[in-house]
Amino acid sequence: MLKVLKAVNLSGTNPGVSKVHFRIGLKAIEYRYNHRDESTLSHFLKITAGDVAPKLPLFMLSFLKRRRRERALREARIDDVAWTRELASYNFTRVLNADERERLKALVILFIAEKPINGAGNLNIDNGARLAIAIQACMLILNLDLDWYKSWTEVIIYPGEFVTRHEEVDEAGVVHVVEDSMSGESWAHGTVVLSWADVMQAGRADGESAYNVVMHEFAHQIDMLNGDANGFPPLHKDMNREQWAAAFSAAYDHFCQRVDAWEETVIDEYAAENPAEFFAVISEAFFETPLAVREEYPDVYAQLTLFYRQDTAARVHAAVSGRVQ
Ligand SMILES: [Zn+2]
Repeated sequence: MLKVLKAVNLSGTNPGVSKVHFRIGLKAIEYRYNHRDESTLSHFLKITAGDVAPKLPLFMLSFLKRRRRERALREARIDDVAWTRELASYNFTRVLNADERERLKALVILFIAEKPINGAGNLNIDNGARLAIAIQACMLILNLDLDWYKSWTEVIIYPGEFVTRHEEVDEAGVVHVVEDSMSGESWAHGTVVLSWADVMQAGRADGESAYNVVMHEFAHQIDMLNGDANGFPPLHKDMNREQWAAAFSAAYDHFCQRVDAWEETVIDEYAAENPAEFFAVISEAFFETPLAVREEYPDVYAQLTLFYRQDTAARVHAAVSGRVQ
């Protein structure tokens, strides 16, 4: 049987590279893979697993997954004080009712059990930091399922903004190495990278800012479940593709015109970058400043309530009217 003994993240010394130790029977294997080349690890695992173990049928895999999750929910403990403190510190969790808090807690336990969250280099990530990230990430899937996060495997945290390099070829055929300063990055089928300094800016302010890097990057992951990030995630069966496209393209065009006209906008102007960024940024705002999204782009707001299966503005009203303590 294939057994993963240890996965070591080497991101600090060797950006984007991890080391994984396997044992197959008596044979130990060390394997290095590059996050930037997303296919290498899954390809390697497929070949190796195929060599040593017969393929398990699907129903068996889902049975094992369910058993593993039930055990995690039974055995995991979240510190009550830390949990209460975290829920009190975000605008979007303060307004949750008792049922939603319970559901969020179960998702957070599974998220922490299934998704390694590690610091790059010497950055120490403690349980409090893991809890903060898991809570924000799980808000997006509160009424969905953890399987919406099945396509990626780990979260890597940098202390602050990090620099990525990529090559661009200009019209003359000259290759340029371009450096970008990033607060977060999402790799399809691989890694979510976050700047801790930016994570700390989420939802704690006066309710004016819609900035949330965790929600932003996980919205990209959801968007990429059906291919490239393009602002068109896999919709539920009871949703209408035409209505989604009409609402988002009209809002995106309108938003770009406002940004071009130097108009001050509640929604971060980075949303004008392209439709994928528009979806990620407006998803942040949907949770952080839902009243503003509903006011400015009601059709997009309606589509997002259908997609996330949450009415975030109604939740704020319910809390204000005193139905939620
Ligand atoms: Zn983005």
